[in-house]
Amino acid sequence: MLKSRSVALLAGVTLLGTACGGSDESTTPEPMMSWEEFRANVFQEPESGAFIYAGDQKADSEQELRDAYQQMANGDVGQLGGALAVYSTGGKDIKWTASQALNITYCVSTKFGSNYSKVVSSMNTATGAWEGAAKVNFVHVSAQDSNCTSRNGNVVFDVNPVNVGGQYLARAFFPNSSRNSRNVLIDNSAFQPSAPGLDGILRHELGHTLGFRHEHTRPEAGACYEDAQWRALTPYDSSSVMHYPQCNGTNTWNLTLTSLDKQGAGILYP
Ligand SMILES: [Zn+2]
Repeated sequence: MLKSRSVALLAGVTLLGTACGGSDESTTPEPMMSWEEFRANVFQEPESGAFIYAGDQKADSEQELRDAYQQMANGDVGQLGGALAVYSTGGKDIKWTASQALNITYCVSTKFGSNYSKVVSSMNTATGAWEGAAKVNFVHVSAQDSNCTSRNGNVVFDVNPVNVGGQYLARAFFPNSSRNSRNVLIDNSAFQPSAPGLDGILRHELGHTLGFRHEHTRPEAGACYEDAQWRALTPYDSSSVMHYPQCNGTNTWNLTLTSLDKQGAGILYP
């Protein structure tokens, strides 16, 4: 059982081979690779030492990585028949309480330098999209921006730059993460002209911070299966903001909230 889970939005199609299971149309998990094969595809972040596996998931230790591999190897496909999916484990949804959800504070590090204003603006746009769909409220505490570290207890989470050379565009966290793991990290590659828009990247990442899993872990996607730790909120939605386009998605990298995304968010945070 994973104690915590962080997530990343993959950069581009070069990582498809490790992120996704290919074009198999089957709705059951594909034959699992061996541990050695799995391990060979894991990227280790230079600064944090965290392991990014299956292209898009984070494990904080080798043991957590082995646990995650075992979960995938078990091949449990989770609950059928639904989509915008909340992270759920042990029969419990991983979400903010009603009062917490109304005051999700964050800072944006001034270390973004010339990209700082762009990040502030995109965070406003992306948080606004979720706020319009669910009873949640993100609050930018700009007074903390000059001290916006993972140790800053004056905010719920921090938004910081990272340099992973395009291994991912951004990564985030789930509501059960500890404070020092509650970071939205944005790679330099996310600011390149060839990258998907930052608004969309952050709409996707903020979905994780509210507890939403990748839509493509649903068996209907037929690719990119992750694990069964989720509970469906709405019917499967291949256009969901939480669905990678390259995992048999029908959305684009604009990553906007669909009507089902809004519906599911409203169900989790009524
Ligand atoms: Zn993601």
